[in-house]
Amino acid sequence: MLYGSTRGGDEGRSSAYVIKNGLARDGGLFVPMETPALDGAALDALLPLRYAERAARILHLFLDDYTEEELASAAEAAYAKARFGANPAPVATAGGNSVLELWHGPTSAFKDMALQIMPRLLSLSLEKCGEERDALILVATSGDTGKAALAGYADVPRVRIQVFYPVDGVSRIQKLQMQTQEGKNVSVCAVKGNFDDAQTAVKRIFASEAASKQLEGQGLFFSSANSINWGRLAPQIVYYVSAYLDMVSAGAVKRGQAINVTVPTGNFGNILAAYIAKQMGLPIKKLVCASNRNNVLTDFFGTGVYDRRRPFYTTTSPSMDILISSNLERLLYFRLGTGECARLMKALADTGTYSIDAGTRSALADDFAAGFCPEEETAQTIKAYFENGYLCDPHTAVALYCADKYRAESGDNTPMLAVSTASPYKFPQAVLSALGLPVPEDDFGCIDALQAASGVCPPANLASLKDKGVRFTAACEKEDIGAAVAEFAAIRS
Ligand SMILES: *Cc1c(COP(=O)(O)O)cnc(C)c1O
Repeated sequence: MLYGSTRGGDEGRSSAYVIKNGLARDGGLFVPMETPALDGAALDALLPLRYAERAARILHLFLDDYTEEELASAAEAAYAKARFGANPAPVATAGGNSVLELWHGPTSAFKDMALQIMPRLLSLSLEKCGEERDALILVATSGDTGKAALAGYADVPRVRIQVFYPVDGVSRIQKLQMQTQEGKNVSVCAVKGNFDDAQTAVKRIFASEAASKQLEGQGLFFSSANSINWGRLAPQIVYYVSAYLDMVSAGAVKRGQAINVTVPTGNFGNILAAYIAKQMGLPIKKLVCASNRNNVLTDFFGTGVYDRRRPFYTTTSPSMDILISSNLERLLYFRLGTGECARLMKALADTGTYSIDAGTRSALADDFAAGFCPEEETAQTIKAYFENGYLCDPHTAVALYCADKYRAESGDNTPMLAVSTASPYKFPQAVLSALGLPVPEDDFGCIDALQAASGVCPPANLASLKDKGVRFTAACEKEDIGAAVAEFAAIRS
């Protein structure tokens, strides 16, 4: 299986190459040049398998320069019981929906599903590509990604990771999650500034030839862990297939019967994985793209115009507060090809907007529906579902609201799988306030209050944070991020 750029300027790459390099040379994103098929017989063969076994089989369809044994041992280690519990991606039921819970991993957010296995894939790719240097991963984070990446890369051979977060821009729990990270190859530093300051500084270091050269001399190269890397997307295809099989096993659908899927969307990575699963042959009818008040994608699917020139809102579902959904580029490539995709991406960069023709828009409507959930309705959805026996976080509430609205408005009663992307205990303030309960000042007080009100146990990784030793207390000026990177790189491994 070979990979090429969405913009047509970098083709014929192996999967190990695209995982090691992340971005294509022409600035585009890597996509597989063909879509492997998953027919009924293949689904039947996957049915009796455990999650890690399903993952290895499905990943091998895309990553065929890795051996089956390599992928099996990577998947077994990544999705081990000690990290994810007995079932890494269980399907619950709530209201009229099946709910795919993707937050049973070590940091209680869905990013664990990819970030637990991707580091192992990266490590293998260094050997496969004959890369003699080790990777230094730099991450600027507004919260969730930083911790999930740290947890994934900790103690992975030939990789180091350094994370920068805005000193006052993350919650106390998120800060503690990062400050207490274990592992010999990790470093965490607060930045006296906001998220943009951290992100801009990190991007500048990535682009700096002097910094790369210096790193080269130390036997290292820069790499990144963000969601445009194919190594983060491929593992996300697995859980859609696995959830469908689990729904078949549970009798929620008959084998071959179609489902709809609703995904709470930010960067468009998670829902794109569902689209690829559909292209492979998984019986999915409609993909419902669920947004919060930052509804740039709702408008895109509704009108054919993508326009990022709009106000940015801070919401209770912060991981979806995004105006540029990077992975939409891959969908444009699949539907329009490299030339048109490159043209639209240039228009977005130059003018902040682009539009697709009416024919393409109506063809997209065969696969996609889109909706958004305002703040007030997010809180009401958390409350209504809780009263019906299901406790969910604000991101999941956005999905459930859009799933129910889609069903009511379209009259489409196909069984719905709504995706749940975070534990309610990651956002205890927002959940308590939605339930109309007092909100203690302290994060841990909120966790206790939510447990008392719901009777649901908080994930052990969050509850035990209080008692963990803090390792990283450094805070630097944004001008000094480069020096902090140089210092970390100079440590002998
Ligand atoms: C990252 C994230 C999302 C958005 O996923 P995309 O792949 O960026 O669309 C939704 N919910 C949570 C909790 C997340 O962390």
